[in-house]
Amino acid sequence: MTAPPLQVAPGVHRLSVPLPFPPREVAAWVIDGPDGHVLVDTGIDTAAGREALLGGAEHLGVTPDSLGWVLLTHAHIDHYGLAGPVRAWAGAQVAMHERDEELARRFVDRWPEDRALVGRELAAGGVPEAAVPQLLAASDFIHRQYRWFRPDVLLRGDEGDVPGAPGWRWILTPGHSPGHVVVHHPERRILIAGDHVLPRISPNIGADLYASDPLSDYLASLRRLRELPVDLVLPSHGEPFTDFAARVDAIAAHHDQRAAQVLALLGQPRSPYDATVAVFGELPPQNMLHAYRETLAHLVYLERTGAARRTRDAGLEHWTAA
Ligand SMILES: [Zn+2]
Ligand SMILES: [Zn+2]
Repeated sequence: MTAPPLQVAPGVHRLSVPLPFPPREVAAWVIDGPDGHVLVDTGIDTAAGREALLGGAEHLGVTPDSLGWVLLTHAHIDHYGLAGPVRAWAGAQVAMHERDEELARRFVDRWPEDRALVGRELAAGGVPEAAVPQLLAASDFIHRQYRWFRPDVLLRGDEGDVPGAPGWRWILTPGHSPGHVVVHHPERRILIAGDHVLPRISPNIGADLYASDPLSDYLASLRRLRELPVDLVLPSHGEPFTDFAARVDAIAAHHDQRAAQVLALLGQPRSPYDATVAVFGELPPQNMLHAYRETLAHLVYLERTGAARRTRDAGLEHWTAA
């Protein structure tokens, strides 16, 4: 049984799509436009996901004829997984930012080559020899879930109009992914936040092959968004909420604290892996991969701000306080 769609504002509806992994649920949004419906995000491509999305859409009277556009906030599998099937169902045009289109294409086309690069990067980051294959296997698991499809329209630049939904704007908010966009209605003060600002969890910000300094990007896009007129936030995970600026400040404060915690470790040289274990302890491979990426993002951010320095010696990377 899936929950019926929820009208969160006049002409704006929340569809709940179950996920087979935490946080267990992702939202997709239906906006009633003057000429039909616009879908923001789609959920994951599982049998339960399809049933929830298409069942919810049907409940709202969305038909193949009425659905003109699908806009994807970013290329993570829980948000864009059903875009291909939805397009096949409705013939709708799918739009996403060109930076995430590039990312998703690379996830599929170049993973065999990138996998070798990632393996070398993990080894240089101090990951023990026996753990490198485990972390690569955790990456394989993520990459296997990508089936590439080509969007019909690529969003370019920093912001623009949402096709099919007059008054709504998309805004580029890099950090959680390089081409992440949020969807904003300035007059109605509504923000569809994707994974950029979540009510209970801090969005994962990880440095990797595809994003060298994502935390600086993320904090810059958070600061920009904080100035927007927003009364209602519609996040991809968790319930809609209202205290936008307070939530932005809490997330920024979390990263300040985490950066200070990482910096405090750098009185002696540490590899990124050492720093990760010092912050998070030992974790199973999937969680360790995220924790490692997150710690590395903080290290790179500290380097950018001049607080930390990285050196390489005999193929190993070490970080110290500057
Ligand atoms: Zn995401
Ligand atoms: Zn997500």
